[in-house]
Amino acid sequence: MTNFYKELEKTFQDNLQKPSLFLTDREWSYADLLKSINDLSHVLATNGVGAEDRVVVQVEKSAENLALYLATLKVGGVYVPLNTAYTPSELDYFINDADPTLFVGESERTDVRSFTLDALGKGSLIDSIDPEATPVDVVSRDESDLASILYTSGTTGRSKGAMLTHGNLYSNAVALTDCWGWRDDDVLLHALPIFHVHGLFIASHCALLNGTPMVFLPKFEVEEVFNKLPECTVLMGVPTFYTRLLSQPNLTQDHVRNVRVFISGSAPLTETTFNEWEERTGREILERYGMSETIINTSNPLDGLRVPGTVGFPLPGLSLRIANDAGEEVPRGEVGTIEVSGPAVFNGYWRMPEKTKEEIREDGFFITGDMGVQDDEGRVSIVGRAKDLVITGGFNVYPKEVESIIDDLQGVKECAVIGVPHTDFGEAVVAVVVPESEEISLDFVKSELLEKLAKFKHPKALVNVSELPRNTMGKVQKNLLRDQYSKILID
Ligand code: AMP
Repeated sequence: MTNFYKELEKTFQDNLQKPSLFLTDREWSYADLLKSINDLSHVLATNGVGAEDRVVVQVEKSAENLALYLATLKVGGVYVPLNTAYTPSELDYFINDADPTLFVGESERTDVRSFTLDALGKGSLIDSIDPEATPVDVVSRDESDLASILYTSGTTGRSKGAMLTHGNLYSNAVALTDCWGWRDDDVLLHALPIFHVHGLFIASHCALLNGTPMVFLPKFEVEEVFNKLPECTVLMGVPTFYTRLLSQPNLTQDHVRNVRVFISGSAPLTETTFNEWEERTGREILERYGMSETIINTSNPLDGLRVPGTVGFPLPGLSLRIANDAGEEVPRGEVGTIEVSGPAVFNGYWRMPEKTKEEIREDGFFITGDMGVQDDEGRVSIVGRAKDLVITGGFNVYPKEVESIIDDLQGVKECAVIGVPHTDFGEAVVAVVVPESEEISLDFVKSELLEKLAKFKHPKALVNVSELPRNTMGKVQKNLLRDQYSKILID
């Protein structure tokens, strides 16, 4: 493998007449996609983007946006996508940190050459296309060369730029093709954003490497996604996709008959959602686990038992260990930090050698920060983030254990369990609960937990809220809850 784009281009050439993108108002064949990539790579090259040069992109999802990503790879550049929700001052941080040759986005900048991705108009990248230009060659790259920087979603602290190489992207795309049994007649329903690892690398790469058409929706609108399901064979989504689809009264076995696999990740899928989905559609959701730094780590099997509440087995080629603070593997069944090493594990954090050293061990294992446990067969379950772990009176409480039980109580829609400062215990467990209708009381929850959980795991305070704060990928933002309720037991 040289430049990952070269591998993708082979597929495009083999599938020129096949649809690549079904868009809201038009359709692109693989020939159309290739043409757009060739046009844009010429514009990038004439604007000075070459090997190792960063291109920071903050635009709405579109076919041209996908082509711009691929064009950046083609000219050897480093693609840096940003969440469209970031504010101008956040953007300043990323531009300063990534130090790009080019910025593509809505705001014109004085510190870097900038373009929009609008169809036409002043400063538009599309408008700069020269229809007569001879396509530029694919710039040769090595497996270990940088292809993209993904800024971590930043639910705590400063965003770090995870450096992904051509080898990382290629190896994971190949592993997933195999793991999820990609077929020639697949059609992928793509309603994820493409500024994040899930929509850009996991979903798009599987399709692009296999010449699969994608129903490419600008964002997740529940009715639109529901209506497209009969035309598709694969859906990749975050858990909220599934909970929202469950609210559609006409979601039946017959409606989803053409979908061969429903995949979920980026945030925990509750057993309730897994079970309700199975009741309504006759299908088990396939849950997998990944992150910006490593793409996909584990997956439930395509064929065979999918256990709700678990994220399945390590992908072939990936070494995974559940470790103590010294990086030593703990006995099976014990909780520890998930550490991984393998061909898709990133190359470190951009311009943060100290952080890289803290999180990648000398033997190459990356300390994910997720706490997990492996059963006798090797199946992995995630019990929370290391920083979400609550230590109360010297005892460890894994939020997931408490959350799963509260989630199942009568009248509870969902909940989040956090630790807050407590004078006596250091930290104390607090439950933030979304009730179905009537407010839930602390006494009720405690009495229900009495038989099920040791007393030190019981919440010492409970708050009713109408919804939990989530980021775009459906992750509950526990840092916001911790900030908001930090004084609840002290004042
Ligand atoms: P990101 O880099 O934004 O993709 O976030 C990665 C984090 O999302 C992981 O470290 C996990 O904490 C979480 N995550 C991803 N997939 C799952 C899953 N299936 N279950 C629970 N947490 C998940």
